[in-house]
Amino acid sequence: MKCPKCKTLDSKVIDSRIIEDGQTIRRRRECERCTCRFTTFERRGFTDLMVIKSDNTKELYNRDKLKKSLLLAFAKRETSNEVVEKMLNNLENKRTLKTNEISSKKIGSDVLEELKDEDPIAYIRFASVYKSFDSLEDFKAFIG
Ligand SMILES: [Zn+2]
Repeated sequence: MKCPKCKTLDSKVIDSRIIEDGQTIRRRRECERCTCRFTTFERRGFTDLMVIKSDNTKELYNRDKLKKSLLLAFAKRETSNEVVEKMLNNLENKRTLKTNEISSKKIGSDVLEELKDEDPIAYIRFASVYKSFDSLEDFKAFIG
């Protein structure tokens, strides 16, 4: 793992902690050259999950991309990075049990399912992007 400061590859682990319900290991590392400290996260890989988009093209599942849209939905809401990471873990675990392909539509509805209990405002925000309502009436019908 490259040091973010001096780009050296040699670092030592100074602390490991299991977080997010045992699904992630967080490590504190120290660069052996410049002693800069940084954090890495270890998770099970989901590199082979393919997402089928609405135009039927496929792309590799991108956790960061989904995380970004989730953080956007949570913008200015009181939520921690850990809550979002935990949601992503839940979603990923649900998927890989069954198949290595998923439609972007299903991802969206799974996210909504998670958000429903977590935060109603984030839920509505995410839904408005994901469902791209045609009219205010559609939107009202949805939140009603
Ligand atoms: Zn360094």
